[in-house]
Amino acid sequence: MVSPEWTIPSALTDFHDIERALEGRRAAVFLDYDGTLTPIVDTPAQAVLSEEMRGTVRRLGDRCVTAIVSGRGREDVQERVRLDNLFYAGTHGFDIVGPAGSGIHHQVGQEFLPAMEELHQRLHRTLARVPGLLLETKGYSMSVHYRLVENGAVAEVEALIDGLLQDYPGLRKTHGKKVFEIRPRFDWNKGKAVQWILQAMGLDQPDAMPLYVGDDATDEDGFEAVAGRGVGILVEDRPGPTAASYRLKDDAEVGRFLERLARTIHESA
Ligand SMILES: [Mg+2]
Repeated sequence: MVSPEWTIPSALTDFHDIERALEGRRAAVFLDYDGTLTPIVDTPAQAVLSEEMRGTVRRLGDRCVTAIVSGRGREDVQERVRLDNLFYAGTHGFDIVGPAGSGIHHQVGQEFLPAMEELHQRLHRTLARVPGLLLETKGYSMSVHYRLVENGAVAEVEALIDGLLQDYPGLRKTHGKKVFEIRPRFDWNKGKAVQWILQAMGLDQPDAMPLYVGDDATDEDGFEAVAGRGVGILVEDRPGPTAASYRLKDDAEVGRFLERLARTIHESA
């Protein structure tokens, strides 16, 4: 059920409701990376995890199944987080690994990789002349970042992408925050990755409570995956429609929330 964001409560102010819902249940925590665990920055390279947040996420990972679910390539986000007690679901969930020693590695949509590679080369040639544009390839997806592109040029960039995409019926474009994402036209997303991890860990049960925290349009799939049995938490300080049931203003609030959550899970264990 999509509700206007301004009607949903703060996950910090109403923490006790979440705490009560957790009683006697096994938590599983799913976290987006950019803009959720890190502040919003101009380029993806600048999104660095603070030591404080790393410590908080490490404590969570020690106490319950914890996963980073990101649009970034799986290895990229792993190198940024540098914790070996977590699941990592990269490129919107297409590439999943479990904690160190678990032996879990699940990849979907590998048949789309050659087309992605070819389109990447063509986009690279076509878009090289647009100042400020950043093209990032992550195997299963590509990101065209236009945060630093002049406003008037964005429509032209999108038209160029759409033109090239006509040659690749298996691929599609989605919208993120100041970014066009190109991904396989394949029924898989962050929410499917959440569901896969819950099943793999035996947490697809009434006594499990998944929590999903994210700030992107693609995180709505994650909120929907946990709706009804857990909580979705939108990181956003502006109103807008969402499937999340709580909100947090920014990454600083996410840090405070996760710290409280880790303490609660520890105390109830
Ligand atoms: Mg994000």
